[in-house]
Amino acid sequence: MNEKKSFEVARETLKQLTARKLPPTPGNYKTIYNEIAGIPSVEAFPVRELKDIAQALPAKTPGQQRQRGLLESAIDRMQWEGIKNALVAYGGFVPQGGAGASDTMAAAATGVASPAAGAVPGLSSEFLLQIAKLIEYAQPALGSDDQHFSEQTANLLKAMRLSGADITAVKLMLANYSHRLSFVAEDQAEIKSVLLKLLHLVFENIRDISIDEQWLKGQMDALMAVAQPPLSLRSLDDVERRLKDVIFKQRDAKEKSLLAQDEMRQMLATFIDRLSEMTVSTGSFQEKLEDSARLIEQAKSIAEIAPVLKDVVGATRTMAQDSKTARDELRTMREQATNTQAEIVKLHQELDRVSVQARHDPLTGALNRKGLEEALEREISTVRRKETPLCAALLDIDNFKKINDTLGHTTGDEALKHLANVARECMRPQDTLARFGGEEFVILLPDTPLDKGIEAMTRLQRELTKRFFLAGTEKLLITFSAGVAQLSNDEAGMDAIRRADQAMYLAKRAGKNRVLGA
Ligand code: GH3
Ligand code: MG
Ligand code: MG
Repeated sequence: MNEKKSFEVARETLKQLTARKLPPTPGNYKTIYNEIAGIPSVEAFPVRELKDIAQALPAKTPGQQRQRGLLESAIDRMQWEGIKNALVAYGGFVPQGGAGASDTMAAAATGVASPAAGAVPGLSSEFLLQIAKLIEYAQPALGSDDQHFSEQTANLLKAMRLSGADITAVKLMLANYSHRLSFVAEDQAEIKSVLLKLLHLVFENIRDISIDEQWLKGQMDALMAVAQPPLSLRSLDDVERRLKDVIFKQRDAKEKSLLAQDEMRQMLATFIDRLSEMTVSTGSFQEKLEDSARLIEQAKSIAEIAPVLKDVVGATRTMAQDSKTARDELRTMREQATNTQAEIVKLHQELDRVSVQARHDPLTGALNRKGLEEALEREISTVRRKETPLCAALLDIDNFKKINDTLGHTTGDEALKHLANVARECMRPQDTLARFGGEEFVILLPDTPLDKGIEAMTRLQRELTKRFFLAGTEKLLITFSAGVAQLSNDEAGMDAIRRADQAMYLAKRAGKNRVLGA
């Protein structure tokens, strides 16, 4: 200890304990005392805590028992190195630089007997090849961003496929691989979830800035709903297509509203110009009148008034002329405004016409005909490749005209939206909903044979009986008739839909509110 007297150090220690708001335990006292006195602190070996950890480790297999034994004895001997090795081996990992020993340790931990190199019963080269194949198949899911991991995988695969592979070396490489794999897989999951969050943020932003565009708002809500986990290639595909629609329509809307804004701006500028001119001329007219009034008051004879009157008449004529010009100009501007308004209406109509080129029906958010054709093509090529069944169902709302006639077209629209929502919620994510016509919808059901397709449509019927459509306060039961057709070999998609349509027609003839197979 230096010059500081020990009682000074003790006093300072107590001060520091209070200043740092530390509980006055012997441990804290000792740490601060050493710090003030400049004594290097030697951490006590946490035997008790380490033993607790060792006790918490399961010892079910002989390998686990052995590693736990080694761990406990290293704790007794207060050897950090031994503790580290035992823990790493217990976890099945390989400590750096210790191939031979770690192989034995990893084997011990997993309960697999350590084999003599090259002579492992059950670990034939065929088995190794199978594992190699498994690793290779899983590879795309892990991405190729981690170059080190890619190289590690390539080396491992190479070693596994070598005839007369060195089993001990392969085992070591496998252990290293699986260690790293755990991080890579975690990373991938994390990346996916972060990307999804970002996507939602983008959608939310677009939705919030599309204040006037109801269509866009609806599309953005639909996009947010589609971009929910669990994600499938299908739902991502849907996201992509919808986003294309949105971008297309938004660009169009923006260009047109910029045009309209520009015209309005020009008109406003002219209007303000005219207004200021008028104020100036009425101002000088006012002055002229005031001057004249004063002169008239002061006049002593008619002869003096006459020139003043002449001036007033002249000024009034000019003023009248100015007003007429202003009125004419304002009238022209009003006509121009009306024309611009008509132009905007026309643009909107055009926008709606253009939106027909999009793939979604703006009312229900379901695919439109064009969208359906594309989806059908895609589904058919998938089922043909995978050799799985595909069903197409066509449903037509029963007595829909009556809803329109009694409750109005707007309520009819709401009923269509309701049906689309219920259908979407009760379908699987891989199913496709499309609006085929007025009150007719097509549902594509991949990986579904006919009987299951009929079942799915019956389920939708049941769901609709549970979830009434509320027309104001009135509860309405919407029913539909449907036909289901399973796509047969070499059949065109639209032909299968045609068959479903015929079956739907038969369902109507048989009394409606039923599902028939084609
Ligand atoms: P059925 O049970 O035989 O199918 O009778 P229905 O009344 O449902 O069939 P119908 O074909 O006689 O009438 C369909 C009605 O759907 C007529 C049409 O005005 C209406 N409709 C079509 N598209 C829309 C739409 O987008 N909104 C609304 N509200 N009505 C629509
Ligand atoms: Mg119909
Ligand atoms: Mg109908």
